[in-house]
Amino acid sequence: MVEGYNKNISSNDLKAIPDSKSGELKTWIRSLQQALTVEVDHGFTNIQGRTSKFSYFVSGYLLSIPSIAFSENDLSKLKKLALDYERYSNMSIDERRRIIAKSRHVLHDLYKYQEAEKKVDSKKLKIRRSHESILYKKSSSTDSLSLGCSISAIRGVGPKQAERLSSLGLILIRDLINYLPRDYVDYTSLKTIDKSHAGQNVTIVAKIRRCSSFKSPKNPNLSILELFIKDKTGGMKVTRFFAGRRNSSISYVKSQQSLYAVGATVAVSGLVKESRYGKSLNDPLIEIIDSPNNYLKSRTIGQIFPVYSLTEGITSDKFRDLVQSILYLTSEIEEPLPKDTLKRLDLPSKQEAFFRIHNPENSITLAKAKRRIVFEEFLLLQLSLLLRRDLHKKSNSPKLSIELSSNSLVGKFLNILPFSLTDAQKRVLKEIELDIVKAEPMSRLLQGDVGSGKTVVAISALLTAVQSGWQGAFMAPTEVLATQHYQTLSKWIPQLELNVDLLTGSTPKSRRKEILTDLVNGSTKILVGTHALFEDPVVFERLGLVVVDEQHRFGVKQRNKLLNKGLQPHLLTMTATPIPRTLALTLHGDLDISQLDELPPGRTPINTQLISPKDKKYAYDLIRSEINKGHQIYVVLPLIEESEKLELSSAIDVHHQLSTEIFSDFTVELLHGKMKGIEKQEVIRNFLNKKSDILVSTTVIEVGVDVPNASVMLIEDSDRFGLAQLHQLRGRVGRGASKSYCLLSHQNKNKLSRQRLEVLVNSNDGFEISEIDLRFRGPGQVLGTKQSGLPDFALASLADDADVLELARNEARKILDSDPVLSNNSILRSLIKQQWEKLRIGNKLN
Ligand code: ADP
Ligand code: MG
Repeated sequence: MVEGYNKNISSNDLKAIPDSKSGELKTWIRSLQQALTVEVDHGFTNIQGRTSKFSYFVSGYLLSIPSIAFSENDLSKLKKLALDYERYSNMSIDERRRIIAKSRHVLHDLYKYQEAEKKVDSKKLKIRRSHESILYKKSSSTDSLSLGCSISAIRGVGPKQAERLSSLGLILIRDLINYLPRDYVDYTSLKTIDKSHAGQNVTIVAKIRRCSSFKSPKNPNLSILELFIKDKTGGMKVTRFFAGRRNSSISYVKSQQSLYAVGATVAVSGLVKESRYGKSLNDPLIEIIDSPNNYLKSRTIGQIFPVYSLTEGITSDKFRDLVQSILYLTSEIEEPLPKDTLKRLDLPSKQEAFFRIHNPENSITLAKAKRRIVFEEFLLLQLSLLLRRDLHKKSNSPKLSIELSSNSLVGKFLNILPFSLTDAQKRVLKEIELDIVKAEPMSRLLQGDVGSGKTVVAISALLTAVQSGWQGAFMAPTEVLATQHYQTLSKWIPQLELNVDLLTGSTPKSRRKEILTDLVNGSTKILVGTHALFEDPVVFERLGLVVVDEQHRFGVKQRNKLLNKGLQPHLLTMTATPIPRTLALTLHGDLDISQLDELPPGRTPINTQLISPKDKKYAYDLIRSEINKGHQIYVVLPLIEESEKLELSSAIDVHHQLSTEIFSDFTVELLHGKMKGIEKQEVIRNFLNKKSDILVSTTVIEVGVDVPNASVMLIEDSDRFGLAQLHQLRGRVGRGASKSYCLLSHQNKNKLSRQRLEVLVNSNDGFEISEIDLRFRGPGQVLGTKQSGLPDFALASLADDADVLELARNEARKILDSDPVLSNNSILRSLIKQQWEKLRIGNKLN
């Protein structure tokens, strides 16, 4: 038990050091000096104190610098030192001697400086907490770096290196700190090969003895790179897989192979498997170690090491050193969150989070650091969305009145319908009605699984607007769907005697002119169309309600365009993609949500089956018998034209084959996105009017198409689609009362993709399906469009961080409730502005 540093200083004492007293500062320095002396006296053995080892105590002591007068330069020196002490236990005696000497030097200078300063002018002492030191500009130093400096200002970074880094988008020191590790090698689990056993997650450092690569014999889209590694205790196989067309190409895999030269030392980190062929690691993290001996002895044992995505010419060692060398500048990072918030949510400060994410101490503090960064990513997004919503709500909207008598338009419409509304439809309609009588504009998202009957709800809402003397717009993502909505309305509306028009990209010019005139003079009450509705020359006389169908298809961009146009009508958006709540919050965090959670009665569940190539005849027989019963069939394909590489049958080819060979006795028609609008409409009309039996189509029919007589959908190459999309497609059948089938044809190549398809066989619940899809394929894929409007998160994962998202959502609401436009938090405010630019929300925050 050693007296000395522990006796004089404990972490509680640190807090007790009062601001601004240079006497206290001297005490602080002296205590540290004392601790160093004790360690020197004990021969640099990293002596165990009362509560911790010497090195741990010193690094902690240096990092929790109290509120004492330190210049920016001094602070950075102290932080650098702290970093050195974190590695102290792995240093040789010589290295330890050097760092203690250096520390004494620094402390001595500090002491001297304080003394001198006091003599000249005691008022010059600047008092501040360490993270406020950026305010203090001191020019005397030799390397006074800051986050805003260019990377090339770092000593040792030449122009070549700076250029390579800039190719990664790294220009400023700040960028380095924001460049988060893609993974970590966990040397706390360092094992020798003989001591690693199946089921353990281990890190092994060993030499490469053999390296080879080859195409998978079973799957042409998979290449395998195999290493055989050996340490003193044994050998094992390490396998990496390269899937996908580009990554599995021979040239790419060979280029990867060249990274792993025989004789090189690697650290591999992953899960151990054992079979009768011996131990192996599948797809572990592989780190090439430049100089194994130094590396192991001096730096890594017992540490978690960050691994970065890098380009050629920058080794991970160098990059890591570079990042470590400027990591002390994390003390410049501004904290957007109030202290009590951090405390309440048990989150580390932003400075600490960025420090620890690059320099993990252990898995617990690393997880906390990650959580903090993820939290902030989500928080900024939620604040943005909620702010937009609040601002939107403040604008004036058309006040609609509701008349519920059977003489009202809505009343009449509901009477005309051949069915009565489901309870869910009634409830949602109420929710909408409550919204649109308010003076603030509605922003509501109506979610409902395919076939839940959203269209009827939309029409009722539109009729309410018309009844109150306003116009309505009904926007659909495709011409096919817009046309269908128009036809639905045309079927029902004549008895209500109002003017409804259709405007799409392929509306002839002359007709278009008429429509626009009728719109401005107010004689058109409801305008249906594609996004052409909101192109520039379109002017409504009194627009009261906009309904956007299948809104996920539009992407946030188009929605923003609408909102930014200064239109403040009520807005009802609808989607059949039952997205998981995390996605909903992320994309539609500014909307109120209604759900149609009930299907109209009388639907029999769709019989879904997987069809491998050898079952094709069964599928065709089923189709034939269904047509003979008077039903119609969809055949859906992922691509329009033959793509040799993907070996997918094209819609055109399949149409040819089916119409001339297999089903030559039936009428088979073709529909795809490259056809002209008028052609498309004719094909759809024929199918709707039962003039054709089979519709061969690309995914243009994915959304909305409503032909209740169709009873079979055959989806070719179904493994190419996302589950949510397949579920959408499947929703085209099962709309009538008779039994329907969905046949998922696949190439039977890959077990995983078959498992994925099984989900559809077993579930009819859109939410469950998209939840699983999110796990299988990630959010971008679930939404099915690149323009989905999902922001890029640096670290946050919508699949894994749902709880943090909820936390951020609540916190965002709290913050805005007490500070509606963030006027009290300039740091947060400026971060939000950046976020709004990213989301193209337009800058309404001034
Ligand atoms: P989606 O929500 O997928 O847009 P649709 O609005 O196209 O669904 O409705 C699907 C089918 O169900 C349509 O044929 C529609 O006429 C019918 N439908 C809607 N509501 C009801 C109801 N309450 N009872 C019976 N059939 C209904
Ligand atoms: Mg629909």
